Amino acid sequence: MVTAKAESMKKKKEEMVHSPILTYLSVITLLSTCPPFVILLWYTMVHQDGSILNTFNYLKEHGVVEGFVNIWPRPTAVAWKIIACYALFEAALQLWLPGKTVEGPISPTGNKPVYKANGVLAYVVTLVTYISLWWFGIFNPSVVYDHLGEIYSALIFGSLVFCVFLYIKGHVAPSSTDSGSSGNIIFDFYWGMELYPRIGKNFDIKVFTNCRFGMMSWAVLAVTYCIKQYETNGKVADSMLVNTVLMLVYVTKFFWWEAGYWNTMDIAHDRAGFYICWGCLVWVPSIYTSPGMYLVNHPVNLGPQLAVSILIAGILCIYINYDCDRQRQEFRRTNGKSLVWGKAPSKIVASYTTTKGETKTSLLLTSGWWGLSRHFHYVPEIMAAFFWTVPALFDNFLPYFYVVFLTILLFDRAKRDDDRCRSKYGKYWKTYCAKVPYRIIPGIY
Ligand code: NDP
Repeated sequence: MVTAKAESMKKKKEEMVHSPILTYLSVITLLSTCPPFVILLWYTMVHQDGSILNTFNYLKEHGVVEGFVNIWPRPTAVAWKIIACYALFEAALQLWLPGKTVEGPISPTGNKPVYKANGVLAYVVTLVTYISLWWFGIFNPSVVYDHLGEIYSALIFGSLVFCVFLYIKGHVAPSSTDSGSSGNIIFDFYWGMELYPRIGKNFDIKVFTNCRFGMMSWAVLAVTYCIKQYETNGKVADSMLVNTVLMLVYVTKFFWWEAGYWNTMDIAHDRAGFYICWGCLVWVPSIYTSPGMYLVNHPVNLGPQLAVSILIAGILCIYINYDCDRQRQEFRRTNGKSLVWGKAPSKIVASYTTTKGETKTSLLLTSGWWGLSRHFHYVPEIMAAFFWTVPALFDNFLPYFYVVFLTILLFDRAKRDDDRCRSKYGKYWKTYCAKVPYRIIPGIY
């Protein structure tokens, strides 16, 4: 047990890719600024026309603290009910819809998590149910938009309590040996303690928070914004249509590839804490959907030519991003035997040691998209986000916040991932970097 704890602390220290003081400062800053930022963004989008200057002037006029307290909506019974119905519905779909059994990657302590791949079915059932509730006059999604501030407020507090639960569970009842404390309460709360927390044997908490609550809410809110504009204006502007279709294509791609997502950093490396779970429960529904939130009250008319051009460019980026992930996954699934751009792949056979001291090997793909740069897939990811935002045109900066945030997130993630892989694969990673020298943008960075 003591050895496992020491290993876990060592691992966490390795995960801190920036200096400890910088890490500490950024953790405290993110914990304290993300919740109020969600409310400010919602308020500016919905009540101040998307203008940061208007919100700034409001706060100047009313005093920062008093003005902000006035802005912050209290969580209401309606908000809690909407969240509870949605969360219970998604949890039930996750547990009970049928799906193939798939295995995740081997964890650092040698476990292989097992999942039920029923994401596409859950996605289809969710959207069909939601749109049918509206179509048959049972529930109007406009209610969600009208109570959005209260919903975010309830989500902020509810998710913080949930993260405290994850912290306590990690200490007293971890689901597997992939768990441990860094010895620092703030880091444990922020980065999380458990890699694969579960309730019972089958209910995987990160699949719920990241996929079935977070990513699903993205699609549900995209549809909500579209319906709200229709209910208000009697029609949907082409800018809103382009935004909604692109966001839905993106989320559809996500669920199509959900089992692949279970092999990525979010699931296989990042533990269940504030960073990933609060992020998916609150940040995804509020910030990721924000370009659509803005468009509700800004029905720009692009004209068919521009609308179709943006749509095609966006779909192309989403496809390339998907193809990068697919290429890597197929390559690993077939043990390096898949064809990459019609040819046998070039690869590095990299060995590493698990925390239990066992030696294992992994294959690193060095051709196809993965030969252009080590994280080329982030380029089309960022560009797709730009294309579903650009229908808002350029009257305000705020709709572009997500694109800017995503760029910073992915550049930081690429560095974190490189550092992690360097410490995992050592000389093999060095060889990979010599063969594929650019981190994200070929020829530039
Ligand atoms: P990746 O899918 O890039 O996975 C990174 C892992 O892949 C590495 O840790 C390593 O894991 C393995 N790996 C690295 N290089 C190679 C290689 N050459 N060949 C084979 N395996 C390799 O991670 P992400 O989670 O960052 O991205 C997944 C998807 O999610 C992307 O499409 C990304 O754009 C998207 N994304 C979206 C975000 C958003 O907020 N919208 C945020 C983050 C990601 P191992 O230890 O197994 O070797």
